[in-house]
Amino acid sequence: MTTTDRKITNVLIVGVGGQGVIMVSKVLALLCQRQGFEVKQSEVHGMAKRGGAVFSHVRFGSAVHSPTIPEGEADVLVALEWAEGMRWLEQLNPETGTFISDTHKIVPPFACRNRSENQAEVYSRETPAEIIGKVAQGYALDASGIATELGNERVANTILLGILSTVFDFDEDTWTNIIAKFVPKHSIDLNKTAFLTGRNWVKTATIPDVIAPIESVTSSQTQTYSNKLEFTPQWCKGCDICVRMCPEHCLELNAEQVVIIPRPNDCTGCRICEWLCPDYAIKLHKTALGTFPQGADSSEIKLDAG
Ligand code: SF4
Ligand code: SF4
Repeated sequence: MTTTDRKITNVLIVGVGGQGVIMVSKVLALLCQRQGFEVKQSEVHGMAKRGGAVFSHVRFGSAVHSPTIPEGEADVLVALEWAEGMRWLEQLNPETGTFISDTHKIVPPFACRNRSENQAEVYSRETPAEIIGKVAQGYALDASGIATELGNERVANTILLGILSTVFDFDEDTWTNIIAKFVPKHSIDLNKTAFLTGRNWVKTATIPDVIAPIESVTSSQTQTYSNKLEFTPQWCKGCDICVRMCPEHCLELNAEQVVIIPRPNDCTGCRICEWLCPDYAIKLHKTALGTFPQGADSSEIKLDAG
């Protein structure tokens, strides 16, 4: 997309609290401003505690009068969470829009209707292949997984910025210099690596990469998982949120006001504690074990939550 004609360009960035939607939005807005564009940015992050929806509109051009993107006129939709991408898909220009999304799913706690052990995840059924087939241009990848491999899941947003950068003709150094202004000093190098990872991924991606298929489970099968909760005690401030919100009542604060799990076998792996912890002190490691026919006895499948 050329930015020299100065027509209004609309970018919608969506995700959930804690993912860095606003950082992506501010990087883009400042970059466009530095290039001499008039920029309007608006954002909603009233539910920005982890798990709440967050979105931001960025509009730039020679003259921009409204901060809000008209329905169906987003030139680019950047989704830091898959289901949020699905929720906002109708805002994307159906003829020319570019869809960029992390395939990572964060299920809102109250959308977690079936918490029984080893239930298949059903939230947001659309697959990347279906969506990429519908949009004019699309990229879907496991940015969170790649960010974790780089050393910090929180740089998933910068990987998506790298992909976003390929949509425009701003040069690479301009992007990395602006990104450095919005990230902690100690993580500038990591964010640069994440940015270049996303940017280069687009150049080298093959079609199967671009559609990054999510493993599907047929309706007659149930996916089984091994779950392991990992706590980072030094990050826990003892706010009690996870203890109160755990539907199975398996968490407690110890005498030092740090979370512990005295009843690991009651944990269903629903992730509510992980998503609601404002300090990232809980991480659920969920490993797919395989599938078994619905109705089969899964009692031998051990839930490892210790
Ligand atoms: S400990 Fe966490 S993952 Fe396990 S049941 Fe409770 S809220 Fe869900
Ligand atoms: S783990 Fe997180 S949500 Fe739970 S008490 Fe500690 S800081 Fe609060």
